[in-house]
Amino acid sequence: MSPFRFSTSPLDTAALQRDVRDESCGGFASFEGWVRNHNEGHAVTRLEYEAFAELAEKEGARIVEEARTKYGVTRAACVHRVGSLALGDVAVWVGVSAAHRDEAFRACRFIIDEVKHRVPIWKKEHYVNGDSGWVNCERCALPAAHTHEHAHEHHPVTPAPAPDYSRQIALREVGAEGQARLRAASVLVVGAGGLGVPVLQYLAGAGVGRLGIVDADRLEPSNLHRQTWYALNECGQEKSSLAAARVHALNPEVRVEAHALRLDAHNAERLCAGHDLILDCSDNFATKFLLNDLALRTGKPVLFASVYQYEGQLQLVRGDDATACLRCVWPEATRDGLVGNCAEAGVLGPVPGVFGSLQALETLKLLLGLPGLNPDEMLIFDLITLSTQRLRARRQPECAAHRRAARTAPLPAPEELELQFGSLTDATSAGFVFVDVRDTREREADPLPAESLHLPMSKLLTDAATLDLEGRYLLICATGKRSAAAAGLLRSQGFSGSHSLRGGLKSLKASA
Ligand SMILES: [Zn+2]
Repeated sequence: MSPFRFSTSPLDTAALQRDVRDESCGGFASFEGWVRNHNEGHAVTRLEYEAFAELAEKEGARIVEEARTKYGVTRAACVHRVGSLALGDVAVWVGVSAAHRDEAFRACRFIIDEVKHRVPIWKKEHYVNGDSGWVNCERCALPAAHTHEHAHEHHPVTPAPAPDYSRQIALREVGAEGQARLRAASVLVVGAGGLGVPVLQYLAGAGVGRLGIVDADRLEPSNLHRQTWYALNECGQEKSSLAAARVHALNPEVRVEAHALRLDAHNAERLCAGHDLILDCSDNFATKFLLNDLALRTGKPVLFASVYQYEGQLQLVRGDDATACLRCVWPEATRDGLVGNCAEAGVLGPVPGVFGSLQALETLKLLLGLPGLNPDEMLIFDLITLSTQRLRARRQPECAAHRRAARTAPLPAPEELELQFGSLTDATSAGFVFVDVRDTREREADPLPAESLHLPMSKLLTDAATLDLEGRYLLICATGKRSAAAAGLLRSQGFSGSHSLRGGLKSLKASA
């Protein structure tokens, strides 16, 4: 008899116990789940259980078998009721015989937990007021199960297999809810080469709902040692369409769009629109920096992967003002040609395979809300020595891309540019740092009666980099005219906390 089965009639627990009895065992543990008279504030009168029997029996049997090997249990069984149940009925029974009590308890607990989580069973509750509702139907939300059933109805002879995510749903961190999150997600993959191939394979396999593929290249024989998804007789064809066809063959539930284009400044925004996350699987810096700047402009996260010979790195750019971007890390915008791509530098096939797989993994974790690569770090993996490093990626205050983005992004309710103070002490207590914008001669002739930075108008733009983008500055000149202009200029450069002392030093003297 199968160790996991369904029963349409009331369970005879004494008989079930006799079935798993083992003379050699010192421990027996059982669990009974009963129909109770209420759920979430509703008075329940009876309930019904339904299951996709064929799928459920297979998965249930697998669970009992897992428990047996995991805990070294001699005999175990689980029986679940289906159909209509009355209050107080035993809905599910688990029994385990083991040499010792600890294994028996743990295996019993494992089986009931896993059955609740993994087996497609759901229940319909009937309430006192005549209403009813489906509850606990984690699996109802799963298109796979429905499609499978429907396939049986329409094609009774050869049912079309439906995608089955059970191996990942089995994970506590995924479950039916996580699967629904993946299904709702939309990811743009820029590059369908060495990195893009494993990325697309795993994202399609995982059931990510929508995938966009951007790649202008056609398949070449020299690609195949690392892009092993494709075939030699497909050389000359567009990679984006080849990849889209592969995605569809692997998982027809995924909505896939192919763009045989090179990402550029004109099409980048349009291509990224509608996607939650962008994956950089490109092999050139032009594309990487374009995506970086787009992330900062739109606040759309980009997960970057780069490979050079035996080494590669991963970095997540969240696109906000607080965390690092690619240009924070590589300020002197590395140009193409400075660092070789695969064509010039050479690469072993599995190297991009490893990084593409890591990128796919980080993507799934991001979509599922699991911990992973932080936005303030870079993962560097040397595949010769097999050593990994997580380097700090700092948000650089002088980063040009960040500053440009701050300039184009709407400021959150800008503060008044010009402020009036009775004395410099008042301004100090309001948290301002003074910036004297007068020239050196003026400054010496009429010194500020407080500590200040000196940033003369003539050097305003070149020296602004010494200021902190988040700093609160009060710019001061003799009459408040130059300082107002300077504060406006600094704000346009992203220094949103720049202010001008209205009336300048003259106003302070007048009020003193
Ligand atoms: Zn930056």
